[in-house]
Amino acid sequence: MTIANPYLNAPAGPWLRGNLHTHTTASDGRQPIQKVIADYAARGYDFLAISDHDILTDAADYAKLDAHGLILLPGNEITRHGSHLLHVGADKFVAPHADRQQVINEVNAGTGFIVVNHPNWEHDFNHCPFEQLDAWQGYVGLEIFNGTIGRLDGAPDACDKWDRLLARGRRVWGFANDDCHLPVEDMGLAWNMVGTTDRTPAGIVDALRRGCFYASTGVTIETIAVEGSRIRVESPDAGRIIAYQQVGREFANVEATSLEVEVPANARYVRFTCLGRGGRSAWTQPFFVTTE
Ligand SMILES: [Zn+2]
Ligand SMILES: [Zn+2]
Repeated sequence: MTIANPYLNAPAGPWLRGNLHTHTTASDGRQPIQKVIADYAARGYDFLAISDHDILTDAADYAKLDAHGLILLPGNEITRHGSHLLHVGADKFVAPHADRQQVINEVNAGTGFIVVNHPNWEHDFNHCPFEQLDAWQGYVGLEIFNGTIGRLDGAPDACDKWDRLLARGRRVWGFANDDCHLPVEDMGLAWNMVGTTDRTPAGIVDALRRGCFYASTGVTIETIAVEGSRIRVESPDAGRIIAYQQVGREFANVEATSLEVEVPANARYVRFTCLGRGGRSAWTQPFFVTTE
């Protein structure tokens, strides 16, 4: 059995906290970009990406602003003509072609990558249908939690679609983002904790692309360790830790701050959710399992 560990060689810490999905008055956000940056910095974030609808915010735009110590990632939310896609680490503007596979391909020709946004938004809980997620190739992950969808129709979480993709062998990471439009209400709801010592936009993009991060709405994961066919997760503020395999099946579930499991012989992937107080959670990335 071989377990692909996305946390291999991750630094002990501190990991970097960031939100990749943020709007400003340049599109439909309520606050101007400089105020948004100042607010996230005041909340103790390490990095932030501004992702206005079909408007690229790049390094030249950030250079005109006070970063307040934040590492600022170029970004854009590809919006018109289809399901919303986040362009993280954008090095150019990619037009919102109706053919989203063309969008993904154009993004992948550059330095950035695509995250599929809020798949379970809207009245039918189906902003991005599973069939589309299944058909598209080359995106890096999906928002398994989008904070702002909590006050809109549909569901903020999309672990259902994630588990279905993972069970089909798709290697896609789970992201958690605010999708901030409103000050206060939409801020600090969901973020990504990235294991890197490279405090540059390129360093963060690289670690995210490799899956060396976990998603959180307020729970901390201190240890994610693989030894042979065992995986151990420690989360000091968890009240429960659950281990999943295909297809979203729980194979271990403990009311504790740590969990160590033997990866089941028939597992194709394994992932963990840590549940904390007040409905807060943290999600590890999947470990892909192959057997000879
Ligand atoms: Zn959107
Ligand atoms: Zn958005």
